[in-house]
Amino acid sequence: MQAEKLAYYPFTSEASAHVGNLEISLESLLNSRAYRAARARGIERVKEALEGEIRKFPSSGEAQVLSELLSYPFARMLVACIDDQLFTRRYALAEAKAAYTFLKNESPDFLLEFGDDFGILADFHDSYFSMHFTDYIRFSNSLKDPSWKLTNRQLRAGKIKITKEEFARLLEEAVRERIEQSFPIPDIPPEVSNFCSPYTAEIKEQFEVQKKKFGATDFGVIEPEFFPPCIAHALANVQGGVNLAHSMRFAMTSFLLNVGMSVDEILNLFNISPDFDAEKTLYQIEHIAGATGNTYKPPACDTMRTYGNCIGKDGLCAKISHPLGYYEKKVFMKNKEREQAEGKEQTEKQENEGEKGNAT
Ligand code: SF4
Repeated sequence: MQAEKLAYYPFTSEASAHVGNLEISLESLLNSRAYRAARARGIERVKEALEGEIRKFPSSGEAQVLSELLSYPFARMLVACIDDQLFTRRYALAEAKAAYTFLKNESPDFLLEFGDDFGILADFHDSYFSMHFTDYIRFSNSLKDPSWKLTNRQLRAGKIKITKEEFARLLEEAVRERIEQSFPIPDIPPEVSNFCSPYTAEIKEQFEVQKKKFGATDFGVIEPEFFPPCIAHALANVQGGVNLAHSMRFAMTSFLLNVGMSVDEILNLFNISPDFDAEKTLYQIEHIAGATGNTYKPPACDTMRTYGNCIGKDGLCAKISHPLGYYEKKVFMKNKEREQAEGKEQTEKQENEGEKGNAT
């Protein structure tokens, strides 16, 4: 790849090797005047990610391309210091979206090579890509449009045929996954955290304001399998293109905002029905998210029942009185199980070490 392309795709192995070969020390990246523009662009990159879109950079001149390329490792330092799961997800998503704007205009050969870096083996014949169904499932799993469902695809000899645009879209998911999984970064050197702290403080503050504005409480990673039956049913309906009753639309939207889903992500969920009106839907979601100053919670189970939105309880429903309580309990139970498993592992380790000690 040319240097300019590496700057478009700074998360690839090739870009990372290129930066390594430049032998720029951490000290210079943080302090040298020569890299001031790279640091400024790194800060801008993270702030733009917070707003949902990393803008394209002007690609004229070697110095500008180098700044863009180096801005990525600096942006990563900032994200690592912010150390917030929700923020990391948002950053990874924005980087991946920015990459997609370039990827969709690349040649098939370039896309094949790009996919190779992510372990995706594909072929290109007669204007179509074909890829192994396991890779297809892995990267299309989080895409909401029903057209991505495996049941809506032709499977031949273990391969799925897709268009160039679809292949680029799956590569976007691969980028998002790679960036998201590369965090948290353990053992951040103190000179990095000290240097980054004024910037991260400002970005964190903006993020908190945004979270409040959108009414999201931080439940950590969103776990759709823990959604209560009423919300899971409504989501399935929306994804199947079925229109929801107004009261259920409100309940589902406010629930998703409260567990940490962004306005954009919810907008995408609704972007399926043939009569989708982006402007009207965005207005409604932002209204529920608190754009007018009021933040909303979904209705309690009693109200859900009154409106016919409780589609049938399960065992846990009998113990809670609010859909958010259902989700909270499931997350709590999962965390408890994990702690117990870790505790058990620790005890076994100590016992094994004790036995070894006795034997010597
Ligand atoms: S009991 Fe509450 S949480 Fe359970 S399905 Fe009904 S409304 Fe939803």
